[in-house]
Formats: sequence, structure tokens, C-alpha cells
Amino acid sequence: MVSESEPTAVALKYKMDATKATDRKDAKALCSNCNFYTGKPGDANGPCSVFGGKLVAAKGWCASWAKKA
Ligand code: SF4
Repeated sequence: MVSESEPTAVALKYKMDATKATDRKDAKALCSNCNFYTGKPGDANGPCSVFGGKLVAAKGWCASWAKKA
């Protein structure tokens, strides 16, 4: 699991709870609908390629969020 306190997470302002991410402008943006997320629908967390495949929270968010293609 990615920790909010690890350097990459701090740099990208990752929050396990997207609603706590102050830079998030799109209220619908979540790890679960991000292009870098490969978790299964309904799972609480899943791998993120930006974090080298480590697990991020489905309801999380970071500054690298991009709409799932
Ligand atoms: Fe979540 Fe996407 Fe950021 Fe990965 S890149 S932590 S899936 S918002």
C-alpha cells in the first residue's frame, strides 16, 4: 500500500481519501477512474503504475490523475 507520507506521494499530493486532497478540482476524480489504476471494479484498492504498481486506495487521488481512456 502506498503511504501518504512517502516522498512520491507527498510530491504528488496523494490522499487515500480524495475528498481530503485540496488540489483536486474534479469531484468525480478518483483513483478508481484514473488511467494509471489497474484495480478491479469494486475493490478497495488496486495497483497504480505511477507508484510502480504499489496499491492505492480506490477512493484516493493524486495530482497525476488522468481520466481512464
Ligand atoms: Fe490514483 Fe491515478 Fe494518482 Fe495513481 S496516478 S495515485 S491511480 S490518481
